Amino acid sequence: MRIRTRLMVAIAANIIVFVGVIFFVVRPYFIERSEEQDRLVVDNHIESVIETLNQRKSSLERTLADWSVWDDAYDFVKNHNASFIQSNLGGTTLENLNLNAMIFLNREGDVHYAEVRNPPTTTAADERAFIDDLANRVSRSLTERNGIYESVYGPVLFVQQPIVKSDRSGPVEGNLIMVEFVETAFLDEVEAQTKIPIDLLQDANDTVQVSVLKETTEVLLPLQTVFEQSDYNVKFSVAQSHYQNTITMLRSGMFALLFLGIILFASIMGTVYHVVIRRLMEIGIELKHITRERDSRLRLTHKENSHDEIEQMATSMNEVLAALEDTRAEVIDRAYRDALTQLPNRLAVEDYFANVRQSYRHIGVIGIDLDDFRRINDQFGHRTGDAVLIYIASRLNFYKEDGFVARIGADEFIFLHPNWTLEELRPVARRLTKDLSDWADTNGVKGLTSTIGLDVFASHHPHHTYEILMGRLDVVLHEAKLSGKNRILSFQEIEDGSHYLQTLEMERDLRRALEEDEFELYYQPIVSPHPFAVRGVEALIRWNHPVKGQVSPGLFIPIAEQLGLISDIGRWVLRQAVREMADHVTHHELFLSINVSKRQIADGSFLAELESILNDTTFSPANLHVEITESEVGGNLYELQQFIASLKAIGVKISLDDFGVGTSSLSFLQSLQLDLIKIDQNFVKGIPENTFDRALLEGLYQTFHTLGLDIVTEGVERPEQLAFVLEHSNSLIQGYHYSKPVPLVQLEHYLKKVVMM
Ligand code: C2E
Ligand code: CA
Ligand code: CA
Repeated sequence: MRIRTRLMVAIAANIIVFVGVIFFVVRPYFIERSEEQDRLVVDNHIESVIETLNQRKSSLERTLADWSVWDDAYDFVKNHNASFIQSNLGGTTLENLNLNAMIFLNREGDVHYAEVRNPPTTTAADERAFIDDLANRVSRSLTERNGIYESVYGPVLFVQQPIVKSDRSGPVEGNLIMVEFVETAFLDEVEAQTKIPIDLLQDANDTVQVSVLKETTEVLLPLQTVFEQSDYNVKFSVAQSHYQNTITMLRSGMFALLFLGIILFASIMGTVYHVVIRRLMEIGIELKHITRERDSRLRLTHKENSHDEIEQMATSMNEVLAALEDTRAEVIDRAYRDALTQLPNRLAVEDYFANVRQSYRHIGVIGIDLDDFRRINDQFGHRTGDAVLIYIASRLNFYKEDGFVARIGADEFIFLHPNWTLEELRPVARRLTKDLSDWADTNGVKGLTSTIGLDVFASHHPHHTYEILMGRLDVVLHEAKLSGKNRILSFQEIEDGSHYLQTLEMERDLRRALEEDEFELYYQPIVSPHPFAVRGVEALIRWNHPVKGQVSPGLFIPIAEQLGLISDIGRWVLRQAVREMADHVTHHELFLSINVSKRQIADGSFLAELESILNDTTFSPANLHVEITESEVGGNLYELQQFIASLKAIGVKISLDDFGVGTSSLSFLQSLQLDLIKIDQNFVKGIPENTFDRALLEGLYQTFHTLGLDIVTEGVERPEQLAFVLEHSNSLIQGYHYSKPVPLVQLEHYLKKVVMM
């Protein structure tokens, strides 16, 4: 049940109980009181009527005593003294005495003298009958000294007394009767005294009868209470004014109470509604709103200055909301922060982007992805891995200025800077690369590099969402990884040269090239100049692209390595070269040099392939040279040593290609069982003009000579270069000076020609 309904019921019940108490307890009490008062009034009236009649009777008796105890009256009844009548009676005596009749009876009880005044009828017979009747009544019982009875003239009041001398000596000589007619005038006089209308009823009663009627109390008072003899009752009615007043008072009181009750009810309900219910409802509505919005920052609005329970409740609720918001903020902070580096995480990037998007036209983006991070972890342990990540985080924080950095993956970071252009992004990217390589050197973590993608993201463009931003970064990083890791690539570069598409196209083309036999091998002779002899050939792959023409291996080999196609290509090269060169090798006593890339060594398929080919043909393993590049030696030394040992076991020779490009130490070279060193063509380029290059090359020749290693000098184009090499070494020569790499047919011509020389 709702509070308002409950309150209504409770208040209504209270009012009903209150009214009920008044109705059943107070009201009867008042009514009883009023009835008592009314009864007192009736009693007073009865007393007053009795007293009035008694006074009337007493005054009549006093007149009677004056007349009956008197020597003259005595004389008159005894001696018939006629002068008594003349001097005392007749005329206006009766009228003055307020009597209607006076009767003198003698000793025998006979009427001695009678006088009647103003009788209702004037016949002599009636008068006679009236007098005789009264005389009889008195003579019959001399004890009855007063009374009211029904005479021929209607009700009359009489008093009688024996007539004696004034000194009350001597015998009684007769009786004197005085009469008053009880007529309207009599009753009026009584009424004037009692102040209440009275009636006279014949039928006599012994006791006073009080009957309570609806609005009045009717009283029947027997006149025997006043007179010795009577056939009459006095009847009068008394209004129950106290009772009536009380009833009226109670009735209007009840109405007033009812009215007050309704006003009280309405006022309590109004107050309760305004002070409690309305505010609770407002709080309820606000809470619903907060629940719907699911916004923990919202609060209940309330007056801080009022301190009642509801305000306290609202304050407490706000405190609960604030506590929840704090908890939420903590959870969010935990959800938005990376525990290891304390950098914001991927979720936070979205937030940051949403915040700066509107305010800046473009955002500079740097994405950092560590190369082969799994290997770093495996090789150097997870502690080192963690240290790398923490170091990068610290460097990013150092460079970020008022930008934003986050860790968005296991080994991926992002750097966002509003309004930065590629010109501002690039130096930071380079510094990061440098920092990382320095750190790797200091901490002995070999091969720790990173791939960095750059982007200048036009943020105001309606379609440029957070997803697009991250998608573009993914594309750049993927691209940079595909085209050789450890590099910095921007999305703009990909867009300009459609770099990405190129790679995709290249992959498809390379697969087709293998199937469609688009590859061809060129051979470049390796010669001994003095005395002149062709000692060997290096097989160099060529791709005859159906549309683009011949594509340089320098362009597609790194991609084939990244795409994992190098093993297939390498297998083809090996088979093709051995098949094409088998005869010439034996015929001209040549060695065949084959290029092997790091991927081929790592995936282990090369050795098995090599053994199977050597078994299939008569090709002597001693005539086969496998070229590995110095930069590849930098990887896993043990793995490389194993590879070389396996080749040696078969009888194959090992050449170190492109010497001087990498940074390997000589002692390191010694730990590999190399047969031949190929000095990179860059050393020869500055010969003979560049003194530094000359000194360098001279030193190298001396060293390798001391170590007893065979040497091939690559890139000899000019005679001066050849002269220099000849002067300082007995190195073999590979270069345009003798021949460019040529197709098989041309090589065959060349061989024939030189043999004939
Ligand atoms: P590389 O192994 O160092 O091959 C020698 C490169 O030097 C060849 O380039 C060759 O044409 C070039 N060259 C030789 N003499 C001279 C010279 O006097 N002057 C100049 N300027 N250049 C000279 P090429 O044929 O374009 O091959 C480039 C690279 O591609 C090779 O470098 C090698 O690393 C790779 N490569 C070629 N064929 C294969 C292959 O079958 N397998 C693998 N894994 N890599 C290959
Ligand atoms: Ca080579
Ligand atoms: Ca080379």
